[in-house]
Amino acid sequence: MAFSCLSCGRLVGPTATQPRCGECGGFLRYVEEDVDNLRAALDGDVYAALPDVADPIRMGEGDTPLVDVETPAGVPGVVGKLESMNPTCSFKDRGSSLLVSTVRDAATDWEGIVVASTGNTATSVAAYAARADVPCAVLVPDGTSLTKVAQAAAHGARIFTVSGSFSDCFQLAQRVRSDRIANATAVYSANPFVAAANRTVAFELVKQLGEAPDWVTVPVGAGPLLGGCHFGFRDLAAAGLVDSLPKMACVQSRGCHPIVRAFERKESVEAWTEPITTSVGAIADPLVGYPEDGELTRRAVIESNGTAVALADDHVHAWTDRLADDAGIYVEPASAAAAAAVEKVSRIEPDDTVAALLTGHGLKEPPEETPPTESIDGDEAVVRDALLE
Ligand SMILES: *Cc1c(COP(=O)(O)O)cnc(C)c1O
Ligand SMILES: [Zn+2]
Repeated sequence: MAFSCLSCGRLVGPTATQPRCGECGGFLRYVEEDVDNLRAALDGDVYAALPDVADPIRMGEGDTPLVDVETPAGVPGVVGKLESMNPTCSFKDRGSSLLVSTVRDAATDWEGIVVASTGNTATSVAAYAARADVPCAVLVPDGTSLTKVAQAAAHGARIFTVSGSFSDCFQLAQRVRSDRIANATAVYSANPFVAAANRTVAFELVKQLGEAPDWVTVPVGAGPLLGGCHFGFRDLAAAGLVDSLPKMACVQSRGCHPIVRAFERKESVEAWTEPITTSVGAIADPLVGYPEDGELTRRAVIESNGTAVALADDHVHAWTDRLADDAGIYVEPASAAAAAAVEKVSRIEPDDTVAALLTGHGLKEPPEETPPTESIDGDEAVVRDALLE
């Protein structure tokens, strides 16, 4: 198996301690050399076109359902990919499974894993590390959802909080990383495995829809999910297994949208140095110290003829409620942003197929207040009246 450098084209072996090209510092992308493996992936073997590992750690990640989401009149319809159905309830399990498997592989010197996270990568890597019996240290920003931290702690990870943003956690993880410690942080420059694993989303969408969708809307922090998914479609197109590449829509929050800003200005991505004013924490990544990760995502968007939108928190929360209330789908706000984008991307045509990646479960970010309950002392009439006119 090999990764190729996106800048100079050189092929290199798998490595997460040296996640970039040794010659030119470019990003690495997994190359699937065997078309039969891509065919097998489209036939439903979701792992067929991934880098090989000797003894993979798997818990049924991937192969997530695709369900219709009813949209308001005049808004294009959406199918939601329920990434919340992964083992730790977010798509991060696709990358964690692969990365932690490589760490356990006897051919590496890795003994421990460090991971910077806004919450979901931490819980996911912690779970797979527990299964692999590898020590895991999690670095999260102060104020990360208690539920996510509790989940990681339950899996035995050491939890360290860092004052500042995700970027501060990322930079710390880069300093911790060594020949013996793998960095499992989910940005391209930390390890090339995560984007490789996210390609499976593309394979599954084509299998489920029978063809590539017209659009894929993706909530984006640094964007390895968007980029990985795009690489997956590119692999299929190069092998002649799909006719067209879906347009990728990069969705961020107005309160932190470095990639959308650069897309609109037609400039390279720069770090977001203004205050972060969004409550949608899972995608609030200011990219301080690694704007080139966001730039790779911007290029994937452009190459796919896609677009980028920044949404107001209120709009995102309205869609979080709508998905739960009308469609029966309970996701966290960052995920609802993927569906909310259909209302803001004017280039989507009424009969386009739009797949929204619903990245993480609603139980990850419970509301701050207890919802209203009614105390009724066993009075059945009150319950009946609540249900019938
Ligand atoms: C990590 C995450 C994202 C952003 O994905 P990236 O590919 O890291 O940019 C979106 N939604 C949720 C719920 C996440 O946990
Ligand atoms: Zn190179």
